[in-house]
Amino acid sequence: MSEDCIFCKIIAGKIPCAKIYDQGGLFAFLDIAPVNKGHALVLPKVHYPTLFDLPPDLGRGLVTALSAVGRAVMQATGAAGLNLGMNNFEVAGQLVHHAHFHLIPRHEGDGLRLWTQHGYESGEEMQKLAQAIKKAIG
Ligand code: AMP
Ligand code: ZN
Repeated sequence: MSEDCIFCKIIAGKIPCAKIYDQGGLFAFLDIAPVNKGHALVLPKVHYPTLFDLPPDLGRGLVTALSAVGRAVMQATGAAGLNLGMNNFEVAGQLVHHAHFHLIPRHEGDGLRLWTQHGYESGEEMQKLAQAIKKAIG
């Protein structure tokens, strides 16, 4: 637990939340400022700041939680679709530094646009960047 983390306080029951899931080290509750009603946050109970701090063995529980909560959010809200998102670091919009995944129910014509897409200068630029990323993966 991190002393000044609002999500650690929510998990510990020190701050109230609309809790929906607590299994296998994963926790979920409704976002207080939903993009659409039913917008849920899924997170490990242990405090890890970003995606890059998550232990790989969290994978199975994480996928189970995302799938169970996502399906239930869709069912309860009558949504036709669902977005999964994660903000890592402040420049990407991360406000709470306890790694968490956003599940956002989507409805036909809800008008939500998550991001604007652009292009590359050339196919060569795209391939060069792909090579650099492959090299960084190792
Ligand atoms: P992020 O910008 O990815 O760090 O997302 C943090 C999210 O936490 C925001 O969507 C907030 O609306 C949400 N949030 C902050 N405080 C609370 C709270 N006390 N209960 C529920 N959701 C919260
Ligand atoms: Zn925390």
